[in-house]
Amino acid sequence: MSDPARRPPLMPLDDALARLLALAAPLGRTDQVSTFDADGRVLAQDVVSPLQVPPADNSSMDGYAVRAADVTAAGVELPVTQRIAAGQSGTALPPGSAARIFTGAPMPAGADAVVMQEDTETLEGGARVRIQVVPAPGQWVRRAGEDVMRGATVLHKGERLAPAGMGLAAGIGLNQLLVASRPRVALFSTGDELVMPGDVAPQDMKPGAIYNSNRFFLRALLTRLGCEVSDLGIVPDNRAATLAALQSAAHGHDLILTSGGVSVGEEDHIKPAVEQLGALDLWQIAMKPGKPFAYGHVRRGEGDAAHFMGLPGNPVSSFVTFLLLVRPFLLKLQGATALAPAAMAMRADFSLSKADKRREFLRARRNAEGGLDLFGNQSSGVLTSAHWADGLIDLPAGQTIAEGDVVRFIPLAELLA
Ligand code: AMP
Ligand code: MG
Repeated sequence: MSDPARRPPLMPLDDALARLLALAAPLGRTDQVSTFDADGRVLAQDVVSPLQVPPADNSSMDGYAVRAADVTAAGVELPVTQRIAAGQSGTALPPGSAARIFTGAPMPAGADAVVMQEDTETLEGGARVRIQVVPAPGQWVRRAGEDVMRGATVLHKGERLAPAGMGLAAGIGLNQLLVASRPRVALFSTGDELVMPGDVAPQDMKPGAIYNSNRFFLRALLTRLGCEVSDLGIVPDNRAATLAALQSAAHGHDLILTSGGVSVGEEDHIKPAVEQLGALDLWQIAMKPGKPFAYGHVRRGEGDAAHFMGLPGNPVSSFVTFLLLVRPFLLKLQGATALAPAAMAMRADFSLSKADKRREFLRARRNAEGGLDLFGNQSSGVLTSAHWADGLIDLPAGQTIAEGDVVRFIPLAELLA
């Protein structure tokens, strides 16, 4: 097995992702939720507007509604025949007159332009107004339906809701939305070296012990993705405990996610335990960080099983494989349509002289000059790199970077949302 020629070839990341997505059948369960609570949820149906927004032509300024044709020259004086505030509705505007109007108030019939109050002079205590500027027809008027047309699909099934979409839904009168139910995920960490912060003080840590950091970021990542997380903690490195944890987790969960114990040759209990209760494939993915990854299932009944995913234990590997593989999988379970993060072309303000055989995801950060800086230590154990970075450079296998090269950059904001 140490002869490199006999090692199986690594699986390209895109192949691994395609395989996972093919296995991620949308769960199909839905919830009716308050629009207030819909942030981050995936819409289970199209949202079609029953009305137009704005509902009627209205003023976008405080000023005077006029017929543009009545104001042929600057200095024209008109009687002010009505006052229309937001929330009120006026009456038809007689020719040769003006209506005092405020932002958001509907235009009176016949009026076709608004003159902002700064371009007018009030006369006779407001009974008349002098218009100082000749208005163009349509000026300062917001057209009915210019935001949303009646019958328009304003939000689409499979869209992940964000604040602007929630506002839009509310703007067409919806206080409830039908969304995909939250995937239920059981999370546990493996490794006898792991200690929970709080259980043992830093000065009392035994040699070889480390704190469990993966549990904290994985749980937060899952929650951000709309999952209902059952955190099963640290499962001891023995077969009986692992079997028991898997068996109970398979019931009531769509996915069992673990970190650690999927490296080749590891003295570990995950693989045989999952195999005993279902099936497990250990994948060697051509990516750095994050080569080892496991996918399988744990049976919970006739023809029914929970998905199983095992992430590598190294914190940065765990973090990156979650973002690139588990995240799209969980979004697809919810029926989301946008699974790939948007990337951008950015200039590298550093050089990287050593190429890797694997596709690399380098932790980098945008600088004030519009370029990218690279975190100095790219080791998969150095979680500081992920904290410092605001994105990942997606570097093809076998490539180096010269200063000034344009590289593919995926903002972490895309992946953490
Ligand atoms: P493994 O994938 O189990 O071989 O672990 C690889 C490395 O990641 C080892 O140095 C582990 O100690 C470390 N590691 C595993 N699990 C965690 C965790 N939950 N938090 C922090 N480090 C971990
Ligand atoms: Mg381990």
